[in-house]
Amino acid sequence: MSFAASLLTLYPEMFPGALGLSLAGRALEAGTWSLETIQIRDFATDRHRTVDDTPAGGGAGMVMRADVLARAIDHASPPGDERPRLLMSPRGKPLTQARVRELAAGPGVVILCGRFEGVDQRLIDARALEEVSIGDFILSGGEPAALVLLDAVVRLLPGVMGNAVSGEEESFENGLLEHPHYTRPQEFEGRPIPDVLVSGNHKKIAEWRRAEAEKLTRERRPDLLGAPPQPLVK
Ligand code: SAH
Repeated sequence: MSFAASLLTLYPEMFPGALGLSLAGRALEAGTWSLETIQIRDFATDRHRTVDDTPAGGGAGMVMRADVLARAIDHASPPGDERPRLLMSPRGKPLTQARVRELAAGPGVVILCGRFEGVDQRLIDARALEEVSIGDFILSGGEPAALVLLDAVVRLLPGVMGNAVSGEEESFENGLLEHPHYTRPQEFEGRPIPDVLVSGNHKKIAEWRRAEAEKLTRERRPDLLGAPPQPLVK
């Protein structure tokens, strides 16, 4: 059974975008996963096909309407659809490799891509959407965030990555950032490859990589080792 992604968007032309190329693109062609886009505007009912309106209580920008979005979601994900329903949102739970693995092990995803100031809260509550963030910054729309999430998921689907082992050694998979990599030439601008890596001693190499991974993680991401999160830089 292949992984089925349904995207609700005002810009279906943004898909598959980067996911039509390379590993993800080949897997899409091979049917390892499928991608369906649903134009939210098709579920508007007025002459102008309006999907947004001014915020209740005033303020800048526009808000996507709950009624229009609900019709689009109910069309994409009818009762009995087991796929999680996600809303890309900077207020969501930050995406992790652990969540990416869970999603990749499931039947697929239904993803709502926000635009403008975001979506009416009643829609999020009424359709129990899981809000997912890809980081502490603001995009102009949920589409690039959805592409990021799908890229991370698709590469984990069976058969997508040629060398399955590399997926398990990646940063975050074991709670550490990955060790540094080197390849030929043996010397680059006066910098040699570390001796241990050309020693042929696999035990020593594994120990060195582990130590480097721990050092990098301590320096850059102590939070991964259980330390409190870094204070925000003002
Ligand atoms: N007014 C909102 C931001 C809206 S940005 C706020 O301050 O929280 C418009 C849309 O872009 C959002 O609805 C969401 O779908 C998407 N988006 C923006 N930043 C994102 C992020 N970091 N992660 C996931 N989606 C994001």
